[in-house]
Amino acid sequence: MIPANFPALPEFPPGEVWLAGAGPGDPRLLTVLALHAIGCADVIVHDALIDRRVLDLRAAGAELLSAGKRGGRPSPKQGEINALLVEHARAGRRVLRLKGGDPFVFGRGWDEAAALTEAGLRFRIIPGLTAGLAGTALAGIPATSRDTNHAVVLAAGHRAEDGSSDADWEALARLGQPIVLYMPMAQLAGIAAALQRGGLAPDTPAALVQSAATEDERVVDSRLDALAEDARRAGVGSPCIVVIGATAGLRHEVRGSLVGWR
Ligand code: SAH
Repeated sequence: MIPANFPALPEFPPGEVWLAGAGPGDPRLLTVLALHAIGCADVIVHDALIDRRVLDLRAAGAELLSAGKRGGRPSPKQGEINALLVEHARAGRRVLRLKGGDPFVFGRGWDEAAALTEAGLRFRIIPGLTAGLAGTALAGIPATSRDTNHAVVLAAGHRAEDGSSDADWEALARLGQPIVLYMPMAQLAGIAAALQRGGLAPDTPAALVQSAATEDERVVDSRLDALAEDARRAGVGSPCIVVIGATAGLRHEVRGSLVGWR
């Protein structure tokens, strides 16, 4: 399927680590480089969000190591994951660190890049389609459109490590640009209230996109002042992206024609 005139794919040398994003779910959203890496790796250290169908593309005999970080459940500390990558690379294996979405969007990819550098190991970065842009696009929510916005904010609803939130929501509200929330669920009511204090209208369009690009994908339309309640009533769970702003309302305009990702 790859045309003969496609650029050559890099060799995956033993002892190297590749930090790759797997996109939001559907294996067809892998980049060519990520697919290549999955096929070459001796060991794949993956997080909890990686679709099983993606992991099943590995080479026969490749080892899978789960380094899942998922809210509420026990998961390895970042330092342990870094140490695991270093250990396997030093043992001369081709190590693929595979993350959901893009490794550098709320993915701790930079921590790992720094740890590998400190350990004197060579690594490569393979970006992926991030859930907050690609998962939402599949649901008919553009990151930007000419008539609605000239900027978009990607924000973490809470920090995966301790559940706290760093953002100044009132200041973000004053930008008047759509906000795409990762890890939104724990703080949803508080964030929605702060955004309204910052000046966003209570009826600002909002949408929850759960499990984008997976078999369980679900989109719930809402508005800012009803977000937490709508999420609760619809039983929306993780992983979920919340979009707040004019772009969230656009999907209705194309609903009759938009073919689902399947
Ligand atoms: N690096 C990832 C984000 C990791 S943070 C990326 O670039 O997409 C984890 C958060 O990502 C989840 O809490 C959720 O908000 C979001 N997420 C990841 N995959 C998702 C999916 N398939 N559908 C909806 N949200 C997703």
